[in-house]
Amino acid sequence: MLRLTELKLPLDHPDEALRPAIVQRLGIDDAELLTFSVFKRSYDARKKFGDMPFIYTLDCEVKDETALLARLSDDKHVGPAPDIAYKPVGKAAAPLDERPIVVGFGPCGIFAALILAQAGLRPIVLERGKEVRQRTKDTWGLWRKNVLDPESNVQFGEGGAGTFSDGKLYSQIKDPHHHGRKVLQEFVKAGAPEEILYVSKPHIGTFRLTGVVATMREEIKALGGEVRFQQRVSDLLIDDDQLQGVVLESGEQILSRHVVLALGHSSRDTFRMLHARGVFLEAKPFSVGFRIEHPQSLIDRARLGKYAGHPKLGAADYKLVHHASNGRSVYSFCMCPGGTVVAATSEPERVVTNGMSQYSRNERNANAGIVVGITPEQDYPGGPLAGVELQERLESHAYVLGGRNYEAPGQLVGDFIKGEPSTALGDVQPSYKPGVKLGDLAPSLPDFAIEAIREALPAFGKQIKGFDLADAVLTGIETRTSSPVRITRGDNLQSLNLKGLYPAGEGAGYAGGILSAGVDGIRVAEAVARDMLGLQR
Ligand code: FAD
Repeated sequence: MLRLTELKLPLDHPDEALRPAIVQRLGIDDAELLTFSVFKRSYDARKKFGDMPFIYTLDCEVKDETALLARLSDDKHVGPAPDIAYKPVGKAAAPLDERPIVVGFGPCGIFAALILAQAGLRPIVLERGKEVRQRTKDTWGLWRKNVLDPESNVQFGEGGAGTFSDGKLYSQIKDPHHHGRKVLQEFVKAGAPEEILYVSKPHIGTFRLTGVVATMREEIKALGGEVRFQQRVSDLLIDDDQLQGVVLESGEQILSRHVVLALGHSSRDTFRMLHARGVFLEAKPFSVGFRIEHPQSLIDRARLGKYAGHPKLGAADYKLVHHASNGRSVYSFCMCPGGTVVAATSEPERVVTNGMSQYSRNERNANAGIVVGITPEQDYPGGPLAGVELQERLESHAYVLGGRNYEAPGQLVGDFIKGEPSTALGDVQPSYKPGVKLGDLAPSLPDFAIEAIREALPAFGKQIKGFDLADAVLTGIETRTSSPVRITRGDNLQSLNLKGLYPAGEGAGYAGGILSAGVDGIRVAEAVARDMLGLQR
């Protein structure tokens, strides 16, 4: 198989135009091209006012690859396709007595469990929340009826935190073993659209993600795994420095010397339990801010120029950074084109925002977090849980500012920049449910963060025309941008001071986003499988 890169075709080209373009580019007869597949398709949005082509990377099977590669040896856009197929670490010849445990069934836990199941190790998955259908009903209970179920919500339950999301499936992590490809392939096998394998910024949207998650659960069970819901792990069984198993809230004990801990960033009670048990944790940086909403059409025009609304491009996204004069960095986070702002608390009497969209991304508004990076050294010195405590304080205060009924505090961008409370909405209707209570957002975050965001919004308006639109709406507050703790692990991917405990994914501080959490789940499962099967690295 050879790989051809940088083949450009106009946005509106028909599918049939690809084959003759390849044949012409390689200088071969049509009959010599046996098969081809699109490995990647991207476009360069910077060319919005000129011609904006699709740029393809293609894998091609030709009749005489050796001769063709020799003829095109000087062409840097033609070469052998790298082998990126997934290589399992090994497989149990017969069922072992010990079964590994996976705590948490978000993307990290799902992929850890799948890899362990594919290795014949029959994992037991313990998830505190409910299965995805019931969880969806409970989550809508907060959004529509102001009723929160602390064990079944946006953060907790089958599929983890990203289930009600935009389902963006890209990441900037280093991935030398191409585990990200394995994640996408398994998603497609479970029902995700095939295009996620090749478009440059794939997304899957919330409705499709729920179906994918349920299918993957059935696959894990079919391979001998067990997936248990409403099973909160509340303690660990430890003998010397070796983990022996876990204790459930019900009091049931499950023994295993291999436990993957894929908790997510919101399992604050479990972080406290780990700290009380002496497991090494450290506070880590995260970010705080607001969600901002604009009309999607404004973002499309600014980003895509004359191609705004082009059906092959869909709703436009953006990514922004501003280094403020007070030394803080402000950046856009988890941008959701054509989506909605969601209530994302898992705890009573707290308010926290996030964003989601459907696959179609056709809601009226674009939203993104506009957040400021904070660090333990500068902003929350203290013990390993100081970041958790700061999040709790800010989210509780946001609940009060929102009127103590899960509505979120909000303010128009124009008023926020002027430092005046908002009293009425303008042209942009906020999408957050249960609702937005207008007022002054300044008391909701530390002064340095407010100052930095005030400075950043007009600066962003220079990069995206209209970004500082006076009627755009800020909804507060965004605090769960990443985990406030790291559960430190060594090169063997086990806790630094508790053998057999494999901290993994976002909650442990080793991932940020669906794809990277899935990749970390695979890495950790491979380490568990090697240990259980007695294999060398
Ligand atoms: P999680 O997904 O948080 O899963 C952890 C699981 O562990 C949960 O299901 C929880 O119930 C369970 N658990 C916790 N404690 C216990 C316990 N003691 N016992 C048993 N079970 C336990 N990322 C993207 O890449 N793209 C996006 O578009 C995107 N949008 C998002 C939108 C929203 C609304 C939210 C909230 C997040 C979004 N994210 C997005 C972030 C993404 O969801 C997370 O990065 C990812 O889910 C982390 O995966 P994880 O498996 O490490 O943790």
